[in-house]
Amino acid sequence: MTARIIKNARKIVIKFGSSTLADAAGRIDDALLASFAAAIATLKQNGKAIVVVSSGAQAAGLSTMQKWERKRDIHYRQALCAVGQVKLMQAWQSSFAAHGVNVAQILLTRDDFSDPIRSLYMRNTLFTLVDEGIIPIVNENDTVSVEEIKIGDNDSLAAQSAMLWNADLLVLFSDIDGLYDKNPHLFPDARFIGEVKDIAEVSKTIDTSGKSGFGTGGIVTKLDAASFAAGYGIPTIITRGYPSAFADLLSGAQRGTVFFEKT
Ligand code: ADP
Repeated sequence: MTARIIKNARKIVIKFGSSTLADAAGRIDDALLASFAAAIATLKQNGKAIVVVSSGAQAAGLSTMQKWERKRDIHYRQALCAVGQVKLMQAWQSSFAAHGVNVAQILLTRDDFSDPIRSLYMRNTLFTLVDEGIIPIVNENDTVSVEEIKIGDNDSLAAQSAMLWNADLLVLFSDIDGLYDKNPHLFPDARFIGEVKDIAEVSKTIDTSGKSGFGTGGIVTKLDAASFAAGYGIPTIITRGYPSAFADLLSGAQRGTVFFEKT
């Protein structure tokens, strides 16, 4: 099912969570980013148009400003993201440059999406970049959006970007291969759910407590994002993010949960 949906999709928004891009110590893993860029460059060669939504600014900031690690003050967290965003983009830029692909940075806030004029500019910029073969890399503008640091909702940012760009598919890469009836990190007997047609109904029956060490959203924001995208006819795949994930999804070696558009 995941293979067919990916094959049929031409315009794909791919979201990388912090827990996918960071190593065990919570630092951005440059080698991993390089492998993801290689995989995306291959997708592009195969005719797919890609928009990336990348978390990880705070994690990247920590590798530069290590002495800020324990500072919990919100201003330091925002400052850390501002430093880290440069690092993050440097890593994406050099990783894609190795494949002759240019990247563009797009920093957005939730408010931007509720302003029709700004939305129009954002949409036009996204379309122009992709038409010109550039990979837009979207992140929340942490300097002006405090809630992002608190709830880390890049899943919703990805879903809204997918809506804005008229994507055919939203892929949320996480540290987990999909949705379970309860958190498998806490409950070894958790059951995998491969397909979800009615997100509201499934949400009522599953347990969503707990999240990974570096992720900030948990599975709930992914469900909300999938529900939002479904409302615009865009299916979502939640799956584990690792360099050969797309190839493995296509060959059936990797599974994911597919959320269908509403019928
Ligand atoms: P990311 O940083 O990639 O956005 P998160 O760590 O925020 O990812 O969210 C994924 C985590 O949500 C999983 O690793 C898991 O610990 C947790 N989780 C809680 N309930 C569930 C569930 N029912 N199914 C899958 N994951 C769940």
